[in-house]
Amino acid sequence: MILTVTDNEKLAIGLDYGGKNIKAGLMARDGCILTEHQSATGAELSYQAVVEKLVLAIRELLVGNESRVIGVGIGSPGLIDLEGTTIFTSPNFLYWKDQPLKKDLQKSIDLPIFINNDVNMLAIGEHRFGAARGCRNFICLALGTGVGGAIFVDGELYRGATGTAGELGHMTINFDGPICKCGNRGDLESYIGADYLVKRASKKIRGCPELTPKIIAEMAYQGDRDAAEVMAETGRYLGVACASFINIFNPEKIIIGGGIAQSGDILFRAIQDEVGERAYTQLVKNVEIIPAQLGNRAGLMGAAATVFESIRG
Ligand SMILES: [Zn+2]
Repeated sequence: MILTVTDNEKLAIGLDYGGKNIKAGLMARDGCILTEHQSATGAELSYQAVVEKLVLAIRELLVGNESRVIGVGIGSPGLIDLEGTTIFTSPNFLYWKDQPLKKDLQKSIDLPIFINNDVNMLAIGEHRFGAARGCRNFICLALGTGVGGAIFVDGELYRGATGTAGELGHMTINFDGPICKCGNRGDLESYIGADYLVKRASKKIRGCPELTPKIIAEMAYQGDRDAAEVMAETGRYLGVACASFINIFNPEKIIIGGGIAQSGDILFRAIQDEVGERAYTQLVKNVEIIPAQLGNRAGLMGAAATVFESIRG
């Protein structure tokens, strides 16, 4: 929903980028989005070229609003330091290593910039405006090319010792399973990350040349038995991981975002069944496992919210 705000209200730019797209928006403090921007990231390009694309996106939103925009929040894929200055490594950008993103953006953008991991920003967005409103302890999972995670403990995003906590997709669910891009073996992502999911599905679903997670989810939703089996299996893998998250964190909610999370009951029923088999009943009774609410705007909304909360006044 795009709404208008009064003319003198302060605004923040929220930007969320991944291997494929840059999504950005101009947001008011209450979550109203005035303008949105979408463009291709060009993950195959150099680091410098991606920086330039981010600058272009920010500038496009700034035009005509310079006096009202107080800062820029950015959700970036990869491992990022606590201070939000450096991208240590990023799965979508194979050649990036210790890139000083904040410093490089700051050369062109004369506004405060706040950078955090993209799924952390998504979780902040869902916490402030979406499925986790009013929740103090919750887990977020983002299912896409990779499987991202974020953890809220006692009302705060849990960052860990160096800022990179929450890599829940790389939790091992089978100690001698397939090898993941991160180097681990048998972790959650190596079963349900987009490429791995499609690989699993292509063994079961014949006669569909272009399988994607979205197509598989839609086929399952429309009653295709093989696709439904693949989604139920995906739910079981997720359920194994969620059972551990429940036992470890005792969350109120587990919020699952990404395209396949919108595919109806099959996935969530399978997660719930598996969790019921594995986690402590007392904990399972008190946790809701639900889809995210803000769709692909969650990240940019969390990023913009971070700006308002980091700048007083
Ligand atoms: Zn992994």
